[in-house]
Amino acid sequence: MTKEYDLVIVGAGTGGYVAAIRASQLGLSVAVVEKDKLGGTCLHKGCIPSKALLRSAEVFSTAKRSEDFGVKTSEVTLDFIKVQERKQAIIDQLHKGVQHLMKKGKIDVYDGIGRILGPSIFSPTPGTISVEMSNGDENQMLLPKNVLVATGSRPRLLPGIEPDGKQVLTSEEALGLTELPQSIIIVGGGVIGMEWASMLSDFGVNVTVLEYGDRILPTEDKEISRELTRVLKKRGVTIVTSAKVLSETLEKGDDVTIQVEHKGEKKEFSAQALLISVGRVANVEGIGLENTDIEVKNGVIATNEFYQTKESHIYAIGDVIGGMQLAHVASHEGIIAVEHMTGHKPDPLDYMTVSKCVYTHPEVASIGLTEEEAKEKGFAVKTGKFSFKGIGKALVYGESDGFAKFVVNETNDDLLGVHLIGPHVTDMISEAAIAKVLDAANWEVAHTIHPHPTLSEVLGEAALAVDGKAIHS
Ligand code: FAD
Repeated sequence: MTKEYDLVIVGAGTGGYVAAIRASQLGLSVAVVEKDKLGGTCLHKGCIPSKALLRSAEVFSTAKRSEDFGVKTSEVTLDFIKVQERKQAIIDQLHKGVQHLMKKGKIDVYDGIGRILGPSIFSPTPGTISVEMSNGDENQMLLPKNVLVATGSRPRLLPGIEPDGKQVLTSEEALGLTELPQSIIIVGGGVIGMEWASMLSDFGVNVTVLEYGDRILPTEDKEISRELTRVLKKRGVTIVTSAKVLSETLEKGDDVTIQVEHKGEKKEFSAQALLISVGRVANVEGIGLENTDIEVKNGVIATNEFYQTKESHIYAIGDVIGGMQLAHVASHEGIIAVEHMTGHKPDPLDYMTVSKCVYTHPEVASIGLTEEEAKEKGFAVKTGKFSFKGIGKALVYGESDGFAKFVVNETNDDLLGVHLIGPHVTDMISEAAIAKVLDAANWEVAHTIHPHPTLSEVLGEAALAVDGKAIHS
């Protein structure tokens, strides 16, 4: 069976399904090919399930200290099965939503593995897509004018540390746990590792983080890494940086034991479970790239700024092209790719205006350059910082760890970066994003009236602090 389309999208994660909707809005006939579930990593194995678990952890830890708020409770206990059921109900609801959006956009969904075939009698250039149907039906042949590759990524593994789904886990397996271990070693102090560290410590698990670099969250501003380290250590999390994990020393018994090389010495750590979170690998294999001239560089598909590969009618977006591997980035790249292939003239994405969020407790959110990056790029930099301890609403809320930090170009007051750590900062970073998009100066943010009492006042005060004018410091 063959069928013609204007666009076939391989992979229906956040990048692929959003691109499909935009293409349908623009009048294209569209098909998506998905081998697992519509919504991809973010909906089923990433953003949504992890944030659902984090929210339960937050409620649990708040309930345990409810007396601080004058609310007496009897013993607070955790029903982890219920926690998982709640998580799954949220995923199921959103999954139905995506299925509905595909129907509404008249987007054909093929349930199977998509592969790009080389030039054929149907198509003079590579681009025919064969679909190995999940239900065992004969392969479908799809003949598109354009192809969008959005096959995403999977957890990176460390040679010698094989996940077994019980004691040694990736984030995907950890999301499905039916009971919590009493203790865990987390290898990798990046975003995913630190979200798990924070969540599990709020659930009462004894957590040890082993990080190869000299700090956790290495792509965030140094002061943010320092503050998160301080707060998590205060909560009892052990964080060991500059720790080279020696995979070959892994031993499994009642506990998992592993050694690290740390400052010239060997140290051993044991726990009931071990979570590997050392990054993601792009899914470039098994999708027929060898039948094309598409270039794979450093493990990811190479594209131009409009996400065209070397085959100009084949585009690629999202985690499979590397860069900022975030759900909102994948969606925006998908929209730009579709608008470009339909002759609209989208602006390339300015990655300096993309917010990054880490849903630890306290949360972290940032945009633009860190102070160190700004200095390395040769900017004359001035900074302003304001603590949540000076913000009334943070005290009311009972969460006053953290701060806002502005990194500003001294010569013209342009915002170079904004870095937040504290309560609800992942919801507040969009103010900084608008400021960046509109090329605002720090004094313009300060000039914007922030209502009282709100957590957002920290942004106004930090913007003032850049010029030594903060009111409540
Ligand atoms: P994916 O979502 O990975 O989708 C790719 C899809 O392609 C998959 O459904 C896959 O089954 C399918 N596929 C692959 N090969 C084929 C094939 N040959 N044929 C058919 N289908 C195929 N990002 C955020 O912005 N915020 C967060 O809070 C956040 N939290 C995260 C937490 C965790 C634990 C993880 C792992 C990731 C998190 N991310 C987060 C990252 C985010 O999930 C990804 O950046 C996002 O999912 C990338 O979207 P994508 O469409 O490129 O790929």
